[in-house]
Amino acid sequence: MQVGSTSRPRVLVIGGGFGGLAVARGLARAPVEVLLVDRSNHHLFQPLLYQVATAGLSPADIARPLREVLRRQKNATVLMAEVTAVDAEARLATLDGGQQVPFDYCVLAVGARHSYFGNDGWERHAPGLKTLGDALDVRSRTLRSFERAERAAASLRAGELEPGGAEDPADRTYRPHDAEPPTFVVVGAGPTGVEMAGALIEIAQRTMRRNFRRIAPQRTRVVLVEALDSVLSNYPEELRESARRQLEGLGVEVLLSTRVTAIDEDGVTVERVGAGADASGEAGSKDSERLVTRNVVWAAGNEVPPLVRETVHRVGGEVDRAGRARVESDLSLPGAPHLFVIGDAARLEDEEGELVPGVAPAAMQAGQSVADSIRADLAGRQRKPFRYWNRGTMATIGRARAVAWIGRLRFGGLLAWLAWSLIHIFFLIGYRNRVVVMLEWFVLYLTGQRAGRLLYDRSGVVGGSKA
Ligand SMILES: Cc1cc2nc3c(=O)[nH]c(=O)nc-3n(C[C@H](O)[C@H](O)[C@H](O)COP(=O)(O)OP(=O)(O)OC[C@H]3O[C@@H](n4cnc5c(N)ncnc54)[C@H](O)[C@@H]3O)c2cc1C
Repeated sequence: MQVGSTSRPRVLVIGGGFGGLAVARGLARAPVEVLLVDRSNHHLFQPLLYQVATAGLSPADIARPLREVLRRQKNATVLMAEVTAVDAEARLATLDGGQQVPFDYCVLAVGARHSYFGNDGWERHAPGLKTLGDALDVRSRTLRSFERAERAAASLRAGELEPGGAEDPADRTYRPHDAEPPTFVVVGAGPTGVEMAGALIEIAQRTMRRNFRRIAPQRTRVVLVEALDSVLSNYPEELRESARRQLEGLGVEVLLSTRVTAIDEDGVTVERVGAGADASGEAGSKDSERLVTRNVVWAAGNEVPPLVRETVHRVGGEVDRAGRARVESDLSLPGAPHLFVIGDAARLEDEEGELVPGVAPAAMQAGQSVADSIRADLAGRQRKPFRYWNRGTMATIGRARAVAWIGRLRFGGLLAWLAWSLIHIFFLIGYRNRVVVMLEWFVLYLTGQRAGRLLYDRSGVVGGSKA
């Protein structure tokens, strides 16, 4: 079966993230048919995912149905499906379920997922943060860990709860450290890891503060582990230092030059980078540390979905180690001018030889550039090369703390946090989301209370033993 086509050239856009949506919108008035295919039904504002994971915002505040976003664009159709293959020569894409979609142009804007550097078994214990599902998983683990500690503390105190019987296996598994406030380990000190660590310590110290009777949530440990020798390694030196100081000022333990060597259901083993190996080839034990925890968040690496590698190899192109496609200056694949790869899935150096970063503004600008190229083709004009305009980079560290790097300006603290907040509100899609997020942040700032703290599952029963 084939998904039908009109007489106008069809532009197939795979992925409705920042890049794909910019292509679709950039073609709003072009004489083309835009078919946007995404496996989820919404556009997601990933920069605020950590706020869903830490109960500051709800999923609907940072996502919007793609159909709703493109409802006024008459030449655009949205299809919820996963693209499993792209045949550049036959100009056909295959969807899950086997349907085929003919196209004249195809744009791969499929983003990236987290990579565990070959240790895929770690994912079960250390979820990453890319989708709303990931964020809800982390949120659930986070909230449950406090509940579990409170229950364990009550259970271990003589007389408060009866010892567990066969019908209550959770009680029998409590060990003394279960009754302590939880420990969180965040792996990777890029912007996501830094933001996550800052938000977790804030939950413990402000949001949960007077909510528990048996544990003292403010004694929660948050450990940020980074293999490199600084946090935010892509930022200028003074901002890296400022970010580290701000994190430590909040109470986050920052372990630099430290890499993770094992993750299992009871914790994380870390080791100082460069630690000498002993005669058996094992790293010296004095440099190895075990962090006992059930709460690990992975923010350490990215890799591009295999669809990109397979498509690129079919046209004789190249991908880098993370699976990103090496693209021409107009973002097309070498030898396939009708096939583009943009956003996190592409690798391109700018005129100074600097890698275009995997950030939302770069993906949006790339999407606009591809739309311009397609319109130029249709008008018989020359395509222009893509130029990335870096408007600045920011990361927030917690309430009223952030770092910002805008051209020659480098600053931290409250001013950076205000700039970060305004820019994120501005770029959120939809008026409703902007208003709701502004209100939520206002309440959070004043009271420390978080909107998304409810735990529920389909049965309506939420057991502490599942933490
Ligand atoms: C937690 C987090 C925090 C971040 N913070 C910031 C920040 O503060 N500032 C910043 O600038 N950037 C930030 N980023 C990076 C930014 O979000 C990405 O650079 C940007 O989303 C890349 O856009 P994209 O269009 O390439 O991919 P995405 O936005 O990831 O979109 C890819 C889309 O493709 C769809 N898709 C994937 N495979 C298929 C398939 N086979 N078939 C159909 N659909 C498919 C996905 O469902 C998704 O909707 C952050 C990212 C994360 C994960």
